[in-house]
Amino acid sequence: MANGTVVIATEICKGCELCIAACPQDTLALSATINHKGYRFAELVQDNCTGCVNCALVCPDSAITVYRLPKGAKRSVAPQAA
Ligand code: SF4
Ligand code: SF4
Repeated sequence: MANGTVVIATEICKGCELCIAACPQDTLALSATINHKGYRFAELVQDNCTGCVNCALVCPDSAITVYRLPKGAKRSVAPQAA
């Protein structure tokens, strides 16, 4: 299965949870903290993203960027955008 990872623009996110519902891997969850707008935001909670892009497609605010990693590449959790 493909490897991927996502970067979420946490200050754009409004915590609607559409991406969380759309992720078949349960890779995303809402943060415990809030952004400057006062919303909990989506964040990566598991290192199992396949790069399927479902989350980015459903995000109404285009807050998610998906990266597909080359086969065999070491997976790492990318830092979240401020
Ligand atoms: S790209 Fe797919 S597997 Fe990765 S977080 Fe988004 S919905 Fe989940
Ligand atoms: S779909 Fe977009 S706005 Fe909604 S929680 Fe996910 S990243 Fe945030």
